[in-house]
Amino acid sequence: MIASFFFRQVIKKMSQTDMQEKTWNDYFPYEPRKMQIGMIKVINSFLRKRVHLVMEASTGIGKTIVNLAAVLPYAKANGYKIIYTARTHSQMDRVVEELQKISEKTPVSGIAMRGRESFCLNKMVLKHSNSSRALQIMCKHLKTSKKCEYHVNMKDDRRMAPVLRDLSSQPATSEYIFDVSQSAMICPAETVRKVLPSVDVIACSYLYLFDQEIRKSFLETINCELSDLIVIIDEAHNLPDMVNGVTSDTLSSFSMTRATREASRHGRDDFVRFFDTVIDFLSKKDKEMKLYDEKAVDAGIILEELELECGLELDDEFFGDMLDLGETIRFALAKNGKEPRSSLGRIGEFFFKWYDSIGHNDLTYSMEKKRFQDGKGSFVVLNLNSLDPSKGIYPVLSNVENSISVTGTLGDPLAYTLLTGINRLKHTTNIFPSPYDKKNVKTLVLKELTTIYKQRTPSMFNKIVKAICAVSAETPANVGLFVPSYKLLQDILNNGLEDYAPKDIIVAKPGMKSAENDLMIERFKRKSKRGGAILCTVLGGRSSEGADFPGDLMNTVIIVGIPYPPPTVRVNAQIDYMNSKFPGKGRTLSYTTPAINRAAQAAGRPVRGLDDKALIVLIDHRYGQAAVQNKLPVWIRDSIEIISPDPSYVSLKARDFFRIHNML
Ligand code: SF4
Repeated sequence: MIASFFFRQVIKKMSQTDMQEKTWNDYFPYEPRKMQIGMIKVINSFLRKRVHLVMEASTGIGKTIVNLAAVLPYAKANGYKIIYTARTHSQMDRVVEELQKISEKTPVSGIAMRGRESFCLNKMVLKHSNSSRALQIMCKHLKTSKKCEYHVNMKDDRRMAPVLRDLSSQPATSEYIFDVSQSAMICPAETVRKVLPSVDVIACSYLYLFDQEIRKSFLETINCELSDLIVIIDEAHNLPDMVNGVTSDTLSSFSMTRATREASRHGRDDFVRFFDTVIDFLSKKDKEMKLYDEKAVDAGIILEELELECGLELDDEFFGDMLDLGETIRFALAKNGKEPRSSLGRIGEFFFKWYDSIGHNDLTYSMEKKRFQDGKGSFVVLNLNSLDPSKGIYPVLSNVENSISVTGTLGDPLAYTLLTGINRLKHTTNIFPSPYDKKNVKTLVLKELTTIYKQRTPSMFNKIVKAICAVSAETPANVGLFVPSYKLLQDILNNGLEDYAPKDIIVAKPGMKSAENDLMIERFKRKSKRGGAILCTVLGGRSSEGADFPGDLMNTVIIVGIPYPPPTVRVNAQIDYMNSKFPGKGRTLSYTTPAINRAAQAAGRPVRGLDDKALIVLIDHRYGQAAVQNKLPVWIRDSIEIISPDPSYVSLKARDFFRIHNML
């Protein structure tokens, strides 16, 4: 690890003598708009005062370039590295594309990171590894045994030197990194690791900083401490859930039989006895519980029960041994060219976490009975859920030089600061006004209609379907219909949408693979040129948060209901936990705000640029209530009109919107 403080002093000294600190203007490659200059000045001043920034800035403002231009002068002059974290690969590539533009004006370097699975050239490894963990183990084995030619080739300076020079001197997308490494027959993943310490900006997934294990090796690779970093968190509303997901875990009995075989092959009768006990325990619960039942359990009591039953001491040593044997099995498989997977190791990981977490009040445990996907039979799973994302976020943000959290759908800044722990740091929240021409986005909230469970009568469904059909018929091309659950979606289809939809309908199915989903989206997009279609899908899914539909790709977004989460053990436990931490705020933090964020995300799918026009129709009168409206982002809030659900009036309003924009 470099002596960071010393290094920064040297850079500072150089900037005072040889180099004049540049200004944002040196890093802004376009003609800046007034709002962008305002934002840059805000970011710049808080950055220098070491105040963490939480910002809502809608799409279209150009928040990537604004952030980069605001932070780069300070970071470069003072020797800080910028870590630009994002959720999707396209967001990371976007950062590098902006850096490429910047470097036409002022030299800057940057890399869009990918996991090893996207940066591996070894066909044998790719064929035999179904998970990134497996790939890592195979790769490690091949590197130590010098059997990966791409890694061996890295010793050849004639191959390496030009690529390293190239990648450290200019911004490189992941595709470019892959291509130049492939041409030189060297490993892209390992090459990137060599370049990372010297680049100005690294665009990567949140996990590189907020997963404790990954962070440790990432910081080592980039040769930095947290205090050397300025962190930008793009689409920051995703961060709390993502961090909770890192700690949470689930175990079913699926892998037990394989784990038992592994244990007996290695002469570990104690592990065999333990797995048999867990299998008996879960099948007993399967008989006792009703389908879809979920109940809170006490992790300590369950371990005591299992301990009593199998007569073994179930402690960190026992599960630690299991973890070690799992690693041994994986490496042995990798050595023999087989997929390095160990069910025994996986179970060891789960129970080690389970044992280790007993007594932590920020975790909850439950048991849940589920149905197999083919509908034949059921099984019981054990869940471990994290309730407090700040436990993973605060330790990072409190140690970095500074952070900027930015999103188009913050809605409730206080909730974000409490969930992340930023409230305990010197911070400020800024909501930037929408850059859109007010006429471009119109939000209609339909009175009287709702998906509140008790009011889901045939007559209510009938009115909802009529409203959907009325809006869709007036929409020039594509419509996105987003609903809280597949069950509700099916109810809407069964109650008339399937028969009376004025356009083709394309329906998402539960459990669709990513490739199937991509094909569905492509089909939907193609339809925009042929009269349009209605994409029917759920809120909180890939299409409602990760896909962009500018222009005619989605003229209208219809959201039916508010996607409040079902009252699972985790949700109830999180409400209680947050109430104990922030009295009276549990429900807002764990229930209301995440649901409204999900709806706002879907609403924003068509609004990607300043010229996009979108009609947003919120079919649930609760969107008209102040408590809900106040949590919507400002660009939606400002465009709301509450109207009667009468289909002819809804048609009229939709027609007006598209007529104003000459789209009919
Ligand atoms: S060294 Fe690179 S190319 Fe070789 S197995 Fe590892 S990731 Fe793949």
